[in-house]
Amino acid sequence: MSSVLSERIEAIYRQVIARNPGEDEFHQAVKEVLESLGPVLVKYPEFSEQKIIERICEPERQIIFRVPWQDDHGEVHINRGFRVQFNSAIGPYKGGLRFHPSVYLGIIKFLGFEQLFKNALTGMPIGGGKGGSDFDPKGKTDGEVMRFCQSFMTELQRHLGEYVDVPAGDIGVGGREIGYLFGQYKRLTNRYESGVLTGKGIGWGGSLVRKEATGYGAVYFVREMLKARKNGLEGKTCVVSGAGNVAIYTMEKLQQLGAKVVACSDSQGIVIHERGIDLDLVKQLKEVERRRISDYAVRHKDARYIAGGNIWEIPCHVAMPSATQNELNGRDAKMLVRNGCIAVGEGANMPTTPEGVRVFLDANIAFGPGKAANAGGVATSALEMQQNASRDSWTFDYTEKKLDEIMTRIHADTHATAEEFGAPGNYVVGANIAGFIKVANAMVALGLI
Ligand code: GLU
Repeated sequence: MSSVLSERIEAIYRQVIARNPGEDEFHQAVKEVLESLGPVLVKYPEFSEQKIIERICEPERQIIFRVPWQDDHGEVHINRGFRVQFNSAIGPYKGGLRFHPSVYLGIIKFLGFEQLFKNALTGMPIGGGKGGSDFDPKGKTDGEVMRFCQSFMTELQRHLGEYVDVPAGDIGVGGREIGYLFGQYKRLTNRYESGVLTGKGIGWGGSLVRKEATGYGAVYFVREMLKARKNGLEGKTCVVSGAGNVAIYTMEKLQQLGAKVVACSDSQGIVIHERGIDLDLVKQLKEVERRRISDYAVRHKDARYIAGGNIWEIPCHVAMPSATQNELNGRDAKMLVRNGCIAVGEGANMPTTPEGVRVFLDANIAFGPGKAANAGGVATSALEMQQNASRDSWTFDYTEKKLDEIMTRIHADTHATAEEFGAPGNYVVGANIAGFIKVANAMVALGLI
C-alpha cells in the first residue's frame, strides 16, 4: 500500500481485500478511489462517523444465478449470470450488462463500483449497478443469442423495474441483445415498461444519440480538457483502441471535430491507416457483418494490419483507450508520453493500469479517467429514461446538445473539485471526490440503511 493512504483508509482497504478474495479488478478500482479520499474525510467528519466508505464498498445486493440454454444443435450449455446492485442512494440501480467469457464476480463488482461514482457525476438521479455473464456471444447465431438472453432475463426480471434497477449494454451487449432481453421482460411481466432497460431501438422506446453517446461524450470531455489548456482537437493525430460501439463513435466525433484517427484495434490485432481510418468500413465490418478488424486491411490495400500489435506504439497527440480494462500499462504510457501524446481520454472502464495513470499524471498529460470521460453513455441512458417516463421522444440535435452540456459540466465539476482539494489538473482526484461526495451526502441524509 502506498503511504498516501491514511491508516484508517488503509484498514478499510485491507478489509475489502479480506472480504472479497481473488477479485483483483475490484480491489484495483476500490484502491484508486480510496487513495483520493483522505482530504474528504478531513473536510466531512460525518462521513467517517457514519462509516460511509465502509458501506459504499459493500454492495447493497449481489445476485448470482444459473443460465441454462440450448444451442442450434440441441446441446445444453450452462452459464453464470450476475447482477450486483451496488448503491441506490441517489436513484434506482443503473448500469450495463457485460457478456464476455472473462466475466466473474470481481469484474462485475469493479464495474459496479466505477458506475456508482460515474452515475453520480452525471448529475442525474441514478444509482449504481452492473451485471452480465461469462457467455461469449462471438460466433453464436442470432437464435442462440436470443435463447441465452431469454433464459438470462427469465431469472433477472424479478430483480428489475423502472424504479428498481435499469440495465443497459456493455461489452457483448448491444441493440440486438437489449431487444431480446426487453422482449422477454415484456412477456414475463405483461407490462410495456419502457424504462426498465436503456439502449433500446428507436422504434420501441429508445433514444436518439444513445448509441453514439459514450464515444461522443468521451471526445467532448477531451475537447474540454484541451480547451482548459488553451488547445483543441483540430488537426490532432489520434489513436483509438477497440472497434466496438465506444471506439466507433469516438472516432466519428474526433473526425467531425477535425482530428485525424490513424489506428484502431480489436482483441486480435491493430490496423493502421495513415491517411485516416475509413469509418464507414469499420461500421460495415463491426456493426453489420460482425467480422474481425483484420478484414479492414484486406479491403484497403494502403492500410496495415499487425496481428497481436501494440496500438500504443503508434505516435499520436491524443490516445483514447476504448476497448477494455487494463489495456494500457505503465510501459505503454511511457511510450505515449515519449512520442508526444498530450491528452488521454478513457472511453472504456479502467483501461489504464495504476502504473499507467501515474506516468500520465507525472508527465502532466491531460488525463480523463473513465468515470468522468465515459459518463456520456449512462447519462444518455438517463435521458432515455426521462423520455420513457414522459412518453416523449426528442430530436437528435436536442439530445446531443444535452449530452454536450452534461459532459461540459462534468469536466467543469471535476476540474474545480481537483483544484479545491489541492490537486489542480488531476481529473482522477477530481472525479473520485466529486462522485463520492454526491453519493455520501445522500447516504448520510437517508440514515443507516
Ligand atoms: N455500460 C455503460 C457504462 O459503462 C453504460 C451503462 C448504462 O447506460 O446504464 O457506463
